[in-house]
Amino acid sequence: MKFNEALKEIKIYEAGKPIELVVREFGIKAENVVKLASNENPKGCSSKVAKVIANNAHKAFLYPDDSMYELKAALASKFSVQSDNIIIGAGSDQVLEFISRALLTPNDAVLMSQVTFAMYEIYAKQMGAKIIRTASYEHKVDEFLEAYNEHKPKIIYLCTPNNPTGDATSKVDVLKIIDTIDKETLVVVDGAYMEYAAAKDEAYSITPSDLVAYPNVIYLGTFSKAYGLGGMRVGYGVANRELISELYKMRPPFNITTLSLAAAIEATKDEEFVEDSIALFTKEIVRYEMFAREKDFDYIESYTNFITYLFNDKINSTEIADALLKEGVIIRNLASYGMNAVRITIGTKEQNDRLFEVMRKVL
Ligand code: PMP
Repeated sequence: MKFNEALKEIKIYEAGKPIELVVREFGIKAENVVKLASNENPKGCSSKVAKVIANNAHKAFLYPDDSMYELKAALASKFSVQSDNIIIGAGSDQVLEFISRALLTPNDAVLMSQVTFAMYEIYAKQMGAKIIRTASYEHKVDEFLEAYNEHKPKIIYLCTPNNPTGDATSKVDVLKIIDTIDKETLVVVDGAYMEYAAAKDEAYSITPSDLVAYPNVIYLGTFSKAYGLGGMRVGYGVANRELISELYKMRPPFNITTLSLAAAIEATKDEEFVEDSIALFTKEIVRYEMFAREKDFDYIESYTNFITYLFNDKINSTEIADALLKEGVIIRNLASYGMNAVRITIGTKEQNDRLFEVMRKVL
């Protein structure tokens, strides 16, 4: 059987390792496994949301409201935009897929930073598009504009804060890129972790209302991170209504579940949960910075709920990640991104205590 030629270029996405794998392979009890690999919220989700999911369990036989009226209205009000500026996806991942399918042909190029969210490349390659990367993992305006002028990409991906490095791009820099390019290129501002950056520094806070007037910009957000709903798979895109109506042509019906929809609606009503999650992160990340200094390796200043440790020649990221895994601590090795580095989600105080204890041992 002959598959689409484009598939030859695609490396399968490597997701963070699940708790089940550690239980299976190392015989460690699930309750003793510490998972700091997928940037989930260590506080779990809001108890109000959990209650709504339980209370709606009997509705599992029903398809959800396909218009997603209430969720879009809640997001529209939160971001001061209109409901028809919004499209909901099964995670913002699905919105990325809609964008790629709606825009790209094999003659197109897409532009992204050297090290960034892996799905941009995968979705673009599915459409046969060419991948252009800047030289740095940081989003440097000059590098983006130079590559833009040379390749005239169909899509530019700006991931801020950036996964897996944790650094962020200021609003001024994002707008500089948007204002310089022409309207034939779509700019995707991926704000999956924006709640954390906005809380840390106003200059890095970008909201959909800053962007919605542009015909060629889309903002992506998710309930998977600060809202603690990774398992519910709900994300969204916010853009001008002409762009959104084109993306709707890519959307399958009922693309999030009845329970996910109920959970996301409830989550928009509990901003206090998000604030508490950010407060925990702000307190705990300081310990990670101190730990790096104590052990004499570098880290990237983080604007998200994870930190990236950059190791020197004496420490090998694969050895560290494997040794931690055997002890029941899951972190993300960034060797596949060409970096001798690991990405660690900031956990609860107890999870972080355990991480430091095991890391001291394996180092
Ligand atoms: N964008 C970025 C930068 C991410 O890190 C992720 C999740 N790892 C996503 C988008 C997709 O998130 P989700 O599909 O859970 O909304």
